Amino acid sequence: MPSLPALDIKTNINHSPHVIILGAGASIASTIRNPEKYGRLLPSMQNLVETLDLEPIIKRHGLNYQSQNFEAFYDQLSQSGQHPELLDEIESEISGYFAGLKLPDEATIYDYLVLSLRKKDIIATFNWDPFLAQAFARNQDVVGYERMPKMAYLHGNVAVGVCYNCNTMGWRFNGCTRCNKDFSSSKLLYPVAKKNYTDDSFIKSEWEHLRLHMQKAYMVTVFGYSAPKTDAEARQLLLDEWVNNPVRDLAEIEVLDIMATSNRSALESNWKEFFVRNHYCLFDTFFKSELSSSPRRSCDAFAMATLQQQPWKTNKFPDDLSLKQLQNWVKPLIEEEKVGSFSGKTCEELKVSK
Ligand SMILES: [Zn+2]
Repeated sequence: MPSLPALDIKTNINHSPHVIILGAGASIASTIRNPEKYGRLLPSMQNLVETLDLEPIIKRHGLNYQSQNFEAFYDQLSQSGQHPELLDEIESEISGYFAGLKLPDEATIYDYLVLSLRKKDIIATFNWDPFLAQAFARNQDVVGYERMPKMAYLHGNVAVGVCYNCNTMGWRFNGCTRCNKDFSSSKLLYPVAKKNYTDDSFIKSEWEHLRLHMQKAYMVTVFGYSAPKTDAEARQLLLDEWVNNPVRDLAEIEVLDIMATSNRSALESNWKEFFVRNHYCLFDTFFKSELSSSPRRSCDAFAMATLQQQPWKTNKFPDDLSLKQLQNWVKPLIEEEKVGSFSGKTCEELKVSK
């Protein structure tokens, strides 16, 4: 049965979640705008072997890498069952490299992203890099840990550690708060055609969080994720939850991808199963998205405009702020959240009326 989102018309607060799904394109967009702190390159599946200089390792095991896509190479190697030591070596090089990446000091797209959402929302990432976790860590004191969006690491993450005995997780270099032992690295899922999302208890619980949010999402943003062939299973899991979401008929989905300008029809056709009628937008940058037009209020503002016919003024993120300025910019919204009722005022208006 279709139903309405959880909009409380007394407080103008919409409790239905906004779900963000991040793929490699999000980290690429972030590092193009603000390069990695030490100038290290963020590898893609196309140039991973070159960027990490894996060719000598592959050669040492008597194989040749003829500049194919890493996904195809890894999938083949893993299916063959030969060279398990080569797989181990490649995996340890990859996790070591990604673990060393660091966000620069400026306000990055990842900072904007974590500050644009509330506790009811979730950012689910397919990326191994630590950028989302680092943005979360450096903004949580400003917002308050309890107000931060949830995160889910769908293919594991180099910044996240797990204690499999206590079923706890945390930052990789902290220890388990229950047994005081060091965390193990979270398992990274590599690009093979048949992934298993249920074998590892950590990965399984990350997917569970995403599914619960997808079942009642009012807005979904897919950012830099193309659902490649090797992710067929992931795509199906997302679609299954989405088509059974009772709010879907009124919900909105936005796809942020550079193809929105360069190859719009291909992008549309890649995601068309997810669209309800014309309830979708395609943008080529984060700064055109609903997250950026109505930070911390995306689902509320959208419901006010479409269901209540009382659109709020846009309260767009200025895109040229320092990290400190950005953190200060969102503060009036956080103050309003503490009061528990939304006015639809912009940050400027909230500051004046204080
Ligand atoms: Zn433990």
